[in-house]
Parts: sequence; C-alpha cells; structure tokens
Amino acid sequence: MERQIGNTRLVLVRGDITRQAVDAVVNAANPSLMGGGGVDGAIHRAGGPAILDECKKIVKKIGRLEPGGAVVTTAGNLPARHVIHTVGPVWKGGARGEPEVLSSAYVESLKRAEELGCRSVAFPSISTGAYGYPLEEAARVALEAVIAHLEEGSPLEEVRFVLFSDPVLAAYETALERLKP
Ligand code: ADP
Repeated sequence: MERQIGNTRLVLVRGDITRQAVDAVVNAANPSLMGGGGVDGAIHRAGGPAILDECKKIVKKIGRLEPGGAVVTTAGNLPARHVIHTVGPVWKGGARGEPEVLSSAYVESLKRAEELGCRSVAFPSISTGAYGYPLEEAARVALEAVIAHLEEGSPLEEVRFVLFSDPVLAAYETALERLKP
C-alpha cells in the first residue's frame, strides 16, 4: 500500500528491515544502545560489529539514549548506508506519555534522516514487540506522526514501513485507510 504525502511516497510492505536497500534503516533500540532482541538483534547480527563500535562511542559521549531520541551510526554490512537508532516507549497502560514518546521516536528519526541527506528511510514497527505497545494504537500513532511531519515538507522521497508479519502489515494498512487525506 502507498500514499503520496507532498514530495514523499509513504509505503507499507511486509519484510525484513535488515534487507532494505535504503539510505537509512531505523533500529528499535533500547537506551543502552548495546543491542538486544527483535529488530535490534537482527540489525546487529546482519550489520556486524562496526555498528556496536559506534554505539559504544555514542554512549561514552551522551550516556543512555532517552526514549523518543534518535542517533546515527554506520550500517556496517547492511545494504543500507546508515542506521538510525531510536528508543520507543515501554507500554505502561497509555497514560504515561507513551503516544508522545512514540511520535517523537518517529519524528526524531525522520529529522536525523533529513540531516544526513537521505532520500529513503525504512522503519520497523517501533515498540510493538518486547515493549508491548498495542499494535492498532501504535500503527495509528506512527502513521499520524510520520504524515504530520511529511506534510510540513520534507526532502525525503520515500518513507517505508517494513512490517515483519501479515498481522502487523494488516494493522498498518487498516490504520492508513482510516487516516483519509
Ligand atoms: P520494541 O522493543 O521496540 O518493541 P521489537 O524489536 O521487540 O521492538 O519489535 C518491534 C517489531 O519489529 C515487532 O513487530 C517485531 O515482530 C518486528 N521485527 C522483528 N524483527 C524484525 C526484522 N528483522 N525486520 C522488521 N521487523 C522486525
């Protein structure tokens, strides 16, 4: 499924984020930046040790990465050129600022991609794995945040959501259909 937002094509596909030949892929990291499970583990495994080396340097400089923030490293052996590491919120019922932090994770990642001069960026479904954010709500918040940012005008040509399974893809498709232009 696709939608044009200003200059940018918003695309929803089923797939593996580590296989995307885009300028930047986004990692659903944790504040330690030291790797983990899910997307994070897959990116470090496929990208090799150069990514963790750069994460360690970032941690020396800034300490933990706060939820809603985003930082950049090499993509190592991945087909992408950069990895943008962001931290989504852990779901605690929805009244602890989770939507704002999730929106910030997407928007800060888009800003890093724009600063890098990227033309294409791929996102996973942040926070809907180990962090427990309900899928339908996360899909709506993610798409609203990305669309609102792109509507302000962006040099990005493509923003791709790479969803790992049919139910996750279906949730994002439903959420996008409900967000009529
Ligand atoms: P979080 O800790 O932010 O919840 P997870 O990595 O645990 O992040 O899960 C986020 C989503 O990413 C889940 O829908 C999970 O199925 C999906 N996922 C796991 N591996 C990959 C991958 N290689 N490519 C794309 N999505 C993936």
